[in-house]
Amino acid sequence: MRTFESHIAGRWHTGSGDRHVADAITGETIGVVGAGGLDLAAAHEYARTVGGPALRALTFHDRAAILRAVGKLLLDDTSELYALSHRSGATRADAAIDIDGGAGSLLAYSGIGRRELPNSTVWPDGDIQSLSRDGSFVARHINVSRTGVAVQINAFNFPVWGMLEKFASAFLAGVPTIAKPATPTAYVAEAAVRTILASGLLPEGSLQFVAGDITPIFGLLDEQDSLAFTGSAATARSLRTIPAVLERGVRFSAEADSLNAAVLAPSAGPDTAEFGAFCDAVIGEMVAKAGQKCTAIRRVIVPDTHLDTVSDALVARLEAITVGHPADDATDMGALVGLEQRADVHAAVAGVGARTVFAPELSGLDTERGAFMAPTLLRADDPASSAAHVVEPFGPVSTLLGYQDLDDAVALVAKGRGSLVASVFGPDTDETARITLGIAPFHGRVHTIDATSAAASTGHGSPLPQLVHGGPGRAGGGEELGGVRSVLHHMQRTAVQGSPDLVTAVTGEWVDGAARRDNGHPFTLFFDELEVGDCLDTEPRVITLEDIEHFAHFTGDLFYAHMDDEAAKASPIFEGRVAHGYLVLSMAAGLFVWPDPGPVLANYGVDNLRFATPTYPGTEIRVIFTCKQKSLRAGAGYGEVRWDTKVIDQDDNVLASYDVLTMVAQKEPA
Ligand code: NAP
Repeated sequence: MRTFESHIAGRWHTGSGDRHVADAITGETIGVVGAGGLDLAAAHEYARTVGGPALRALTFHDRAAILRAVGKLLLDDTSELYALSHRSGATRADAAIDIDGGAGSLLAYSGIGRRELPNSTVWPDGDIQSLSRDGSFVARHINVSRTGVAVQINAFNFPVWGMLEKFASAFLAGVPTIAKPATPTAYVAEAAVRTILASGLLPEGSLQFVAGDITPIFGLLDEQDSLAFTGSAATARSLRTIPAVLERGVRFSAEADSLNAAVLAPSAGPDTAEFGAFCDAVIGEMVAKAGQKCTAIRRVIVPDTHLDTVSDALVARLEAITVGHPADDATDMGALVGLEQRADVHAAVAGVGARTVFAPELSGLDTERGAFMAPTLLRADDPASSAAHVVEPFGPVSTLLGYQDLDDAVALVAKGRGSLVASVFGPDTDETARITLGIAPFHGRVHTIDATSAAASTGHGSPLPQLVHGGPGRAGGGEELGGVRSVLHHMQRTAVQGSPDLVTAVTGEWVDGAARRDNGHPFTLFFDELEVGDCLDTEPRVITLEDIEHFAHFTGDLFYAHMDDEAAKASPIFEGRVAHGYLVLSMAAGLFVWPDPGPVLANYGVDNLRFATPTYPGTEIRVIFTCKQKSLRAGAGYGEVRWDTKVIDQDDNVLASYDVLTMVAQKEPA
């Protein structure tokens, strides 16, 4: 019998153990999980001394490119993972969420890294803070990679997606991962990790894998390490109190269980499109992954007046659901992950203690060996005190709860004591907005649907890499996804104080007050020749009333402040006719651009534009134009260059300030 292996310090190892993993359909043993005898100290050491340094030597964009390559690799051939996934009870659609969704997370994080993070190893955060009158002492926050390891404990339900979404944000942050799969689906995670590691795409030591008990590593973790957990609230509770977390400052985050709700708004009567969308969503969430989804709708909260109609509509839909072999195309819902899990769900259904509305006997299936379970709809007769707000049946089970008015609906939802997601379905925007604001403090995500958005909706149960996934309170208080927010969990934010030159040297971005250099016209320099601080101080030019007249009639911008001296003077802002801000900008461009073809390929925008002082006719303007930030677009033959641009008058007052954004060719593309 096969023991699933662990990958530690660059090699696959077999641990000892006796936790048998069974096929969800046939009950036969697939293999054994055990980490006995594995050198977890070596894994910790390898991550810190090999994986971490290798990752930190790469820029965010380098890491993003690797994530993209790994994501594409996984999508190249998913057949083995799909076959294994079926053995865990997952249908094709369930497997797609896990496998294609996992690869998709890597691609999404790659895009986030390339778009939202600099091509650097340091991530400057926020604006420069001026701490002295003369500008000689400033501060800026930076985010830097922590030097420890991210230990990630995953739940059984999405062995690929759950593992890869955690891995992606740590990897992007420059922190190596030690991933631990849940035992019931460790074989699916192991296969995914084998494919990834065999590709050689990852820097050595950036991903290790421990199938089996990982708790011995806790004794080695310290303040540079983190522990991320997904699973039940009970396990999360016990992990919160380990000495590594309580005494040694290990960053701990938990994504725990969640009694997610869907609310049908009062205005969503049976004849509305929202009513149908609501019923479809409830059924979809009960059936997908046989309800073993952290985001599944457990509580179905509907106006008392519609309770019977909703119940009938849900039953009609449930009667059409086929439970069967997960690889069979006719199957709507596969099996639970195992017989033990099914027993837990049955116990939880009893714990909810509500009336059973629908839970048919299954026929034609081997329910002795296969962990099949009928979708089960419950109805609470006393919604306020129902155990549906407390007990999580982690299977195809939802409970109907009636409410009287909007406040009552919000109060019922809040009884979940913090959830990952709630959905609100209704045609009346004001009503839905009221419910949304009432329940938002209890959720990481609120998903609202009306007839105009239903077709395009990404769905109640789909966590998206760019949106927060996590929830307060019972849901664990984590924020596993959320775009760059989740990357920050693996970084240290540090305020760096010092001279503008020092802050420029640390961040790689030129800071106002730091040294500037005249290196020739900067638009004649290729990307590889430019340095931050390269500067152009232009010739001056006087803005005349004729210029203003000409610009006004040429563009059609006849705003009174430019055209009517009396009206301009009467305003609280101006002392007379004033130049258009866009005229100042256009003339500034005329002063700093280099006319001939050269390295500058295009100006793709401006950021942070402010018109600081009105520009009156007769003002002499000039531009101080400084290379502020460079970011190479790997493989594109060019880089993006941000220019600090200040338009000043003859007395050096700033008239306008902004960042000009350009693409500049490399002289020697790599
Ligand atoms: P679980 O029993 O808490 O196990 C989760 C993980 O923790 C597994 O890898 C498990 O390993 C490990 N583990 C268990 N006890 C441990 C301990 N004392 N120390 C260290 N690790 C320990 O949860 P589950 O049954 O696998 O997952 C179902 C639950 O996860 C549900 O409640 C569901 O709501 C929740 N979930 C939440 C999210 C979310 O994003 N919020 C996502 C998915 C699932 P072994 O398997 O080897 O025991």
